[in-house]
Amino acid sequence: MSEKQLKKAIDTLKESGVRITPQRHAVLEYLLNAMVHPTADDIYKALEGKFPNMSVATVYNNLRVLREIGLVRELTYGDSSSRFDCNTTEHYHIICDSCGKIVDFHYPSLDEVEALAEQVTGFDVSHHRLEVYGKCEGCQEVATQKH
Ligand SMILES: [Zn+2]
Ligand SMILES: [Zn+2]
Repeated sequence: MSEKQLKKAIDTLKESGVRITPQRHAVLEYLLNAMVHPTADDIYKALEGKFPNMSVATVYNNLRVLREIGLVRELTYGDSSSRFDCNTTEHYHIICDSCGKIVDFHYPSLDEVEALAEQVTGFDVSHHRLEVYGKCEGCQEVATQKH
């Protein structure tokens, strides 16, 4: 993560009039550093040593604030817990079936699909989500070692 990215995010917070508490700063910094897509629980576990008084609810609350001003995206997966993504540029995800790891990849945005869906169904399309599934490199190695 570049310092520049964190500084830019902090500026966005300031502009939105959001108070920058040490916890909020830490949550943001963790998200920008983590190239993974952590759950609120992951973030809590990573930061509880630094902020013994912080609860999971505080982490959720901070994530909600960051989401509302557009610094963080929430990815919901049915009933399992949400994952948080600080990469708010257009990108797609590939997800490991074994360990649940989510990795970003870039592909030209499928605007034609949105246009076609709108045309065919009459829906007012807001966005789309594309996910590719498979086994990550780490899990492939584990599988080979077992043989
Ligand atoms: Zn995996
Ligand atoms: Zn992502």
